[in-house]
Order: sequence, then structure tokens, then C-alpha cells
Amino acid sequence: MVSQALVERAKEFHGHLCPFLVLGLRASEIALGKLGLKKAGERETVGEEILAIVECNNCFTDGVQVATGCTLGNNSLIYLDTGKNAVTIVRRGDWRGIRVYIDSEKLREKYFKREATKLFEKVVARREGTAEDHEKLSRLWTEIARKMMNIPESEFKIEEVRVKEIERAPIFESVRCERCGELVMKTRVEYVEGKPVCLGCLGKSNAVIGRGIVLNFEYPFVREERI
Ligand SMILES: [Zn+2]
Ligand SMILES: [Zn+2]
Repeated sequence: MVSQALVERAKEFHGHLCPFLVLGLRASEIALGKLGLKKAGERETVGEEILAIVECNNCFTDGVQVATGCTLGNNSLIYLDTGKNAVTIVRRGDWRGIRVYIDSEKLREKYFKREATKLFEKVVARREGTAEDHEKLSRLWTEIARKMMNIPESEFKIEEVRVKEIERAPIFESVRCERCGELVMKTRVEYVEGKPVCLGCLGKSNAVIGRGIVLNFEYPFVREERI
């Protein structure tokens, strides 16, 4: 069962309390428990010994990061862009993992009030909520999120999986972009007339945005004055 202290930490990290944040905590806790693991600490994060593999970039994923200690920045979070609410925890070495999947349709019918779903559509999906709607949604969301702390394992699809080995983050040397003068990871420059040029100066790079991984995303900065 998810502790109140963990929920508070997750809320602090995520900015608000919502059902999928808590489901991320609960799913992680189940997977860690079945593997006999605890949240990744110093040794595990330095060595990337435990990986959390998520399949979405939404509230759920923030719950996973807080509960597992596997984050985007410590290279222990792997993001698969399949668009599913699922997390797999795996220990590097034996590569045996536990994957926990959430069927949001099933949970919504059982645990969410119709009122909350309707309000979510108005406030979040259509962005049409009044201040009063926002407040009401926040109240309902908190109520549902609390229920998610103790949701039984039987509500999840839990499977043992064998994970194909995933490389550790390599360390690359940097080269200087010929145009902007900034240092860039060696694998992220292209050579134009024999000179290294960064993807920023070339105008496109792959990006993770709300809808997932987008290839050749247009570099979004318009340079003004240097301050
Ligand atoms: Zn959220
Ligand atoms: Zn450049």
C-alpha cells in the first residue's frame, strides 16, 4: 500500500495530486516488491542497476520516477513510446522483470465518479473549465487518488517478463559546433563541408513532447539578444 509520505513526495514533484500519479506509485511498488527490490539508491542509480521502463509520458510516469528513483536524468528510466499505462521494473544482470499494466477503462468504470470523468473532459481535454470547475475537479481527483493508494493487485495485469539487454548510457566526447560555438555530444553533430554543425543550427532534432517522440521536430528557439 502506498504511504502518505510517498504521495506527498510525488505531489511535490508532479505539481498536483491526481489518480494516475498515484497509480504510477502503486504499480511501481507492486513491481519492486515482487522483485524484492527497494527504490534505487546511490549504488543503483550510479550503475544503472535497476531500470524502470515506461510506455507513456503522462502523470503515471512521474509516479514511477518518484517511487523507483529511476529518472530521465540518471538514465535508469527508459521510455518506450507505445502509449500504454505500463511500467516494467528490471534488474540489470538477470534481466528478469515485472511488468504492470493498468487498464484505465476498467478502473474508470469502477472507481471514478461519472462527474469526475465529465469534468475532466471539460477542464483538461477541452480546456473550457471555469475556476469553480477547476476547484471541483481538484477535489474529486484528490478523492479518487486516495482510493488508488490501496487499490488491490488484482486490478492490474501483472506479468513476469524477460527483458532483452539494454545498454548502459555511453559517455561520448564533445565537439564544438562550427556555427554557434557550443559544445555538443559527438553523436549529435552533422558534418557540413567537413565542419561539425549542431542539430540546433541545422534546425531539427528528435524531441519528446506531449504526444510522444517526434522525429525531426523543428528547433523551437528564435535567437534574440545574448544577455
Ligand atoms: Zn497529474
Ligand atoms: Zn550550433
